[in-house]
Amino acid sequence: MGLFLTMPFLASYLFYSLIVMLDDTTNHNELIGHIHSLESFGTVDGPGIRFVVFMQGCPMRCLFCHNPDTWDPTAKTQYEMTPRQLLDEALRYKNFIKTGGVTATGGEPLVQADFVKAFFELCKKEGLHTALDTSGVIFSEKAKEVIAFTDLVLLDVKTLDDELHKRLTGHTRDNNKAMLDYLQSIEKPVWIRHVVTPGINDDDNHLEAVADYLSRFSVVKQVEILSYHTMGKYKYESLGMKYALEGVDDLPVNVAEHAREILRSYLDCKVL
Ligand code: SF4
Repeated sequence: MGLFLTMPFLASYLFYSLIVMLDDTTNHNELIGHIHSLESFGTVDGPGIRFVVFMQGCPMRCLFCHNPDTWDPTAKTQYEMTPRQLLDEALRYKNFIKTGGVTATGGEPLVQADFVKAFFELCKKEGLHTALDTSGVIFSEKAKEVIAFTDLVLLDVKTLDDELHKRLTGHTRDNNKAMLDYLQSIEKPVWIRHVVTPGINDDDNHLEAVADYLSRFSVVKQVEILSYHTMGKYKYESLGMKYALEGVDDLPVNVAEHAREILRSYLDCKVL
């Protein structure tokens, strides 16, 4: 367990050092976004039809992550673009996304906060709705600057149990908690996403604690229960990485529905 916890923290330290280096670069040159992939007609990452930008890099190491290929901030990416070039790409689909918008996700989009801020600023000038899909692991002044140009935050809440949070993600939940408090203080609309994994966070006590916690935030407008699945397992194999949840099956449909019922019993907002 000691090694299990130490390795992610060491990886995080190295990761943050890389972010600082990247920031130094972006301060002196034109911003270039390192983009893992783009989706032109996304329908699950915010309201309506959306242009979805998957940013490269994530300091978290969620055991259930199905996108480990987005973790490395230095990996070669499919797209390297300026904010203006990305906006031009998004505007190709303006007729489709004008009632939806754009979403920055990842990875963790706040790894490239300067770029996302600049992109969202341009989007707002075009009248596009902006959504930031974040784990909340990076909560800084730069994150607040991005949030200022964000219409809707999609925020992961992994668990309220501090020890389990470290074991599940390699990080404390301090920044996630601080971000939700901040979003409440500025009355920014939030959709919560909660991944439920069999044998880890699918018991009633856990779900009731999450529901009770979320019921205190009037900015939470929707909660989505995401069922753990093994569809990303092949990516670990292709990257030569060990899959941490080997032997854990997909969350059964009836367990996911039971989780939703518990959340509905505490919350006035939509629970999906
Ligand atoms: S925050 Fe998202 S992208 Fe990062 S490890 Fe967790 S699930 Fe994967």
